[in-house]
Amino acid sequence: MKDCVFCQIIRGEKESQCVYEDETLMAFKDAHPQAPVHVLLVPKKHIRSLNDVEEDDRSLISELILRAREIAAAAGIAASGYKLILNVEQGGGQYVFHLHMHLLGGWKEGGHLRIKDLIP
Ligand code: 5GP
Ligand code: ZN
Repeated sequence: MKDCVFCQIIRGEKESQCVYEDETLMAFKDAHPQAPVHVLLVPKKHIRSLNDVEEDDRSLISELILRAREIAAAAGIAASGYKLILNVEQGGGQYVFHLHMHLLGGWKEGGHLRIKDLIP
């Protein structure tokens, strides 16, 4: 996708702070971090949102989650804990329409943000 910002990062046309890359996905630091550790895990295939994941893409979802676990461990936040967030479409807070998962963690106090605080 020509105008998709995450496709541009994946193609190397836009700079990012990459923390992991393989043939199926790329992980890079969020440009506007909302936590001390804020990484985006992005499949290389352009998929608009979780709603558009097809049967053949099912393994991609487990890949994203388990790779996030590895990146969390490498970032030293496995034991303290972290959040994995998938925003789906506008109502779910998605602004970049290329499927991605947020890995957030590293807060000093930890665990202060409960799911009930996120629901309007
Ligand atoms: P969404 O709300 O769509 O789930 O989150 C999109 C995220 O992408 C936001 O947290 C935003 O800061 C991040 N983002 C948007 N554009 C760029 C960019 O060009 N580079 C990086 N590294 N992050 C971006
Ligand atoms: Zn894209």
